[in-house]
Amino acid sequence: MPEGDSVANDALKLRPVLVGKEIADVYGTKGSVRSNVGRLRGHKVESIRTVGKNLVIDLDSGYSLHVHLGMTGRWRVVPADRKIPGSAGVALTTDSHHAACLGAPTVDVDRTPAIDARLSRLGPDLLSESVDTGEILKRARQRGGSLAEILLDQTVAAGVGNVYKSELAFLARLHPETSLDRIDDAALAGVYENAVRLLRANVGPGRRTTTGERGRGRETWVYGRAGRACRRCSARIESSGGAERVTYWCPRCQVMAS
Ligand SMILES: [Zn+2]
Repeated sequence: MPEGDSVANDALKLRPVLVGKEIADVYGTKGSVRSNVGRLRGHKVESIRTVGKNLVIDLDSGYSLHVHLGMTGRWRVVPADRKIPGSAGVALTTDSHHAACLGAPTVDVDRTPAIDARLSRLGPDLLSESVDTGEILKRARQRGGSLAEILLDQTVAAGVGNVYKSELAFLARLHPETSLDRIDDAALAGVYENAVRLLRANVGPGRRTTTGERGRGRETWVYGRAGRACRRCSARIESSGGAERVTYWCPRCQVMAS
């Protein structure tokens, strides 16, 4: 599932293939791509950057391509002599590769400043070099709500998705539905410090792990483990919510603060 770390990993995969290269051809099913082919084709890629779960490809035309993978999107890179993977929302072809984005809800081409303006509404990027925890706490307090809601709100801090939401609540020993009013600043700062630490640790090769362990079933504390024994106390992990917002927690380790 795309979260800040996996989008950063996409950027690591795409940079060697695209940065400094001229886009020889463009294909895409997305309207914004089709109506802006001329802003992409024949232009050089200047940089690829990420802001939370957003990936931005900047071109020397003064335009950028903004992609948000949502729940279902993914990037595939294949050699240019192979076929473009089917129904790509956008595929950029260089002299050596196709970089194709499949299943992403957001694929927009616009002037770079317009895309930057859109992204400026986001909270501090948890994968940036220095993260302003004070600013995150201020935004969280202004918003209010449950811990789970705050963690997913990208205007509070950018980069946490469903997996980290459940894992961070477990590590804080807080029920995900705990109201922010019941969480003091030190505890909330600790949640975001863990977010920064785990996101950074998962940029690079290998599958995501929040436990420090590798191997299927050992990579998370609670996420994806409904009905199984808590790795800390052996109680059965519970879950609620639909696929898009499913939350996991341990009913014994994670108390509702009161
Ligand atoms: Zn437990």
